[in-house]
Amino acid sequence: MQYRGLGQTGLKVSTLSFGASSLGGVFHEVDEAESIRAVHISIERGINFIDVSPFYGLTKAETVLGKALKAIGREKYILATKVGRYGQEMKDFDFSAGRVTASVDESLKRLGVEHVDLIQAHDIEFGSLDQVIGETIPALRKLQKAGKVRFVGVTGLPLAALRTVVEATPIDAILSYCHFELNDTALADLVPVFKKHRVGIINASPLGMGLLSNRGTPAWHPAPEAVKEICARAATHCRARGASIEKLAVQYSLTNPDVATTLVGSADPKYMEQNIACAEEPIDQALLAEVLAILKPIHNVTWPSGRGENN
Ligand code: NAD
Repeated sequence: MQYRGLGQTGLKVSTLSFGASSLGGVFHEVDEAESIRAVHISIERGINFIDVSPFYGLTKAETVLGKALKAIGREKYILATKVGRYGQEMKDFDFSAGRVTASVDESLKRLGVEHVDLIQAHDIEFGSLDQVIGETIPALRKLQKAGKVRFVGVTGLPLAALRTVVEATPIDAILSYCHFELNDTALADLVPVFKKHRVGIINASPLGMGLLSNRGTPAWHPAPEAVKEICARAATHCRARGASIEKLAVQYSLTNPDVATTLVGSADPKYMEQNIACAEEPIDQALLAEVLAILKPIHNVTWPSGRGENN
């Protein structure tokens, strides 16, 4: 496993990291003991960065992760969670100072830790960016002074929203998802902006939340049909070549040296073992060229998220 600095934080994160949304059963029903094993195997094999949120499985992911973390020394992992998003509907977002402050205490309790290393405003495009900048982040900075969180970040799908916040106020890290993977590399275009502001870059969803997998997408997946269809074609092509699109997708997501870490998630220990193993292997360049050619018609095709003005 390789490790990279996360912006100016001084944290050294594994290039492949563990996203715990699967532990909340957001893709399909999962077994708790297996989920805990997936966390333990990930840490044993060198992953040191874990990301979660109270939103995943409506607190279930944090609760299961907390059980898994009991058996692991606190110095062995760098832990990130989030505030502001608590469900699927617009009404389930609350970026107010009061709510996010209480939310951190609730998360610390569920996770069984005294502090988290990174606290992130979750999916900021669903809120008012003025509120995120003027109220949420200052509230999180107070928690930093109190020692409950070490660093402060923001997450979201539209890169424009992340850029707005980074250019308006000091931020330690951004988490972008579905924008540095086989079918979408838009994050790479914004690297100079994030570097200028010394912001750590976290990439998530190398499998495009199931787009680049043999299982395919869950029912809630927001990608346009054309994207789903052409990604499924790429998966079929890999199968016909006796290869795995998941492996290619994970390997591809690790190719940008400016991205500190890429979060991949699974509650299945076998999948995490495969993901970690393939991170060590060279990418099949011929297969990569074929798959990129299949995906070309939908390259960088994304979908709207949150408030219209934040896209
Ligand atoms: P992903 O692209 O990592 O795909 C996850 C799906 O792929 C799951 O169904 C998982 O079981 C499956 N999978 C994983 N490895 C596999 C393998 N080797 N073979 C077959 N299937 C495999 O998407 P994700 O889970 O959404 O993203 C990873 C993490 O990134 C999340 O858990 C979360 O921590 C973070 N994230 C954050 C945000 C946000 O803040 N808004 C958004 C997306 C993701």
